[in-house]
Amino acid sequence: MSYKEPAPISHDKDPLESMMKRFHVAAEYLNLDEEIYNVLKSSVKKIIVSLPISMDDGSIRVFEGYRVIHSNILGPSKGGLRYDANVDLNEVTALAAWMTWKCAVVDIPYGGAKGGVKCNPHEMSQSELERLTRAYTQAMHDVFGPDKDIPAPDMGTGPDQMAWLMDEYSRARGTTVNAVVTGKPIILGGSVGRIEATGRGVMVSTLAALTKMKINPFNATIAIQGFGNVGSWAALLLKERGCKIVAISDVSGGYFNKEGIDIGKAITYKNENDGVLENYGGGKKISNEDLLTLDVDVLIPAALENTITEKNADKIKAKLIVEGANGPTSHEADSILEKKGVIAVPDILANAGGVIVSYFEWVQNRLGFKWTKNRVYRRSDSIIKQAFNNVFAISNKYNISLRTAAYIAAIDKVSRTYRYRDGSFTFQKNDKDSQRRK
Ligand code: NAD
Repeated sequence: MSYKEPAPISHDKDPLESMMKRFHVAAEYLNLDEEIYNVLKSSVKKIIVSLPISMDDGSIRVFEGYRVIHSNILGPSKGGLRYDANVDLNEVTALAAWMTWKCAVVDIPYGGAKGGVKCNPHEMSQSELERLTRAYTQAMHDVFGPDKDIPAPDMGTGPDQMAWLMDEYSRARGTTVNAVVTGKPIILGGSVGRIEATGRGVMVSTLAALTKMKINPFNATIAIQGFGNVGSWAALLLKERGCKIVAISDVSGGYFNKEGIDIGKAITYKNENDGVLENYGGGKKISNEDLLTLDVDVLIPAALENTITEKNADKIKAKLIVEGANGPTSHEADSILEKKGVIAVPDILANAGGVIVSYFEWVQNRLGFKWTKNRVYRRSDSIIKQAFNNVFAISNKYNISLRTAAYIAAIDKVSRTYRYRDGSFTFQKNDKDSQRRK
């Protein structure tokens, strides 16, 4: 293979470099030819817009907005909309590609995209946020569409922004188009089961990995970093299935109890305490760094990116890491963990529960029909289990990490689909036998 390896990662914080490193490793295993390597590493479209917004004090401020469509090979592109002061085109580009691999690994018919607006949503009023979201939607009117590109919430955005986006898009079309965006309030066509979906997927992939490792969940001890949407739901659902959650943490620090944390009580405490665990009394106070190196069976990072790096990877004692957060492990830490025999279920698989139920929301909107919670749970659990088993089989076949196996599964699917679509593959008996046209 003659394509050039990406430059070494200059610092842990560049998500695009980090993603490209993983892409490159998987591409080598697949012996991907240079043409397709170049197709898959490039984004289809990058849009930058200026959004002049009237602020509540009468002034006008101009915000910069982005939308990157990395791929639409598998279907319309899907990806969140982030409101954050540090958002930039580089970050959005990496996150868009990440979405391509995430959708492909769990086999849902979407490509990958991401959007962002450089702003501080915490310093803006609801009406300023509404004007910003409506202006962004107008600017992206030709980009979005239920068959083209479907946004969703991400950092700094939630059901309100999705409702405004749906309304603004629908006004321009002259008809209600609820399938243009997911993560909407349920009354506007949001799906039941979406709130807990990512934590539920983390629970399902943790149990799937424990089964393969022959660890009985009733004997498993777990530490979870981050007690927001993903961390608290994963904690609650794993506890319900018999696991002992011995440590939890959030921005206020960590809490350890070797008899097991009462997760229900911790959630109630957090809800009554402005969403933070500060002064939570159900465990001994530890630091977030201590939590990462506890002697537990499972570690679930569910807060920030780059928490497990070459600086602390060697001290990790957990046998299994399940990545609830996006990008919690740096590329350098991967090889240290692999040498230690630590198994890591990668983010693109472990936290895909959210995008799976977003896909269900879109399906329900297009059907004009609502599914029950049980149907959502059953179908999303089954998709995650199937994806886990597929990735596990690839990792056994090549004797490689689950992360590289997940990227292989994803890149293989997207590249073969591309080859069929561009006519360079012909169908042979079954899909796996597809061959290049002579
Ligand atoms: P959230 O905002 O609900 O929760 C984040 C949690 O992390 C909070 O408990 C916060 O206190 C804690 N935290 C913040 N800074 C911390 C620090 N320095 N040390 C320890 N804890 C800290 O966010 P979320 O929706 O739970 O998302 C968490 C991660 O999961 C993010 O990486 C996100 O991208 C990823 N993710 C979320 C979803 C989803 O559906 N919510 C889907 C896929 C991936």
